[in-house]
Amino acid sequence: MSINRREFLKYAGLTCIGVGVGGAQLFVTRVKPAFSDFKPADYALKAKRWAIVIDLRKFKTEEDYKKVIEACHSIHNVPDFGDDKQHEIKWIWTEDFEHSFPHQQNKFIPKTVEEKPVLLLCNHCTYAPCTRVCPTKATFKRPDGITAQDYHRCIGCRFCMAACPYGARSFNWLDPRPHIRHVNPEFPTRTPGVVEKCNFCVERLDLGKGPACVEASEGKMMYGDLADPNSEIRRYLDENFSIRRKPELGTQPAVFYIIGGEEDA
Ligand code: SF4
Repeated sequence: MSINRREFLKYAGLTCIGVGVGGAQLFVTRVKPAFSDFKPADYALKAKRWAIVIDLRKFKTEEDYKKVIEACHSIHNVPDFGDDKQHEIKWIWTEDFEHSFPHQQNKFIPKTVEEKPVLLLCNHCTYAPCTRVCPTKATFKRPDGITAQDYHRCIGCRFCMAACPYGARSFNWLDPRPHIRHVNPEFPTRTPGVVEKCNFCVERLDLGKGPACVEASEGKMMYGDLADPNSEIRRYLDENFSIRRKPELGTQPAVFYIIGGEEDA
């Protein structure tokens, strides 16, 4: 059978469209969120909207912060690059008040607040900009409000890092494994070229345990379900004035800070 040039171009065009549509369908199938088929056990902790409160009034010593950071980083195999800030990986860390809350500045802020380090972590925003820009859906919102990260799906484009207004994500420029002090075999290590961040301890929630940082804080932090009006976290937020980072951006962070006023017993 012979075909002329016009017919050849028509068939070639249709073939390309077919391949394109097929490829797009394959892509849509492959980026189906990982949680969709997952059924948590009965003992798993569940919520409609997980959140964390950090009561900075209760953090008094350097050790208070260190214990919390160490608890998170040790169980999650977060590498320690020492003073090498260029390659630093952090899930929870401290920053000064000015850089944590740049729009809360005024010259009358009490020194006790202004000079106190602030614990920072992923805000698990309701409207998380990172999840909108990720081309492979390696980062995505779970129905319980957690902003999750699938390391295997991450292609290292770092769009999420550019989109996050809180600097909550780190990129593995180097192989992190030689820099992990004691590998926790219960949690995956990462590879070069992958972005990572706080995961709200999803692996612990599935086992019926709360976030490790909250546990290590010994009452200075709290987690709970914002959607439950009878939850302890809601009572705490009702009774204590809280602030969030960069609320003007409309991302609706799920990490609340209590910075002043009478301290709860
Ligand atoms: S919630 Fe879990 S992963 Fe997130 S900072 Fe706390 S301990 Fe780390």
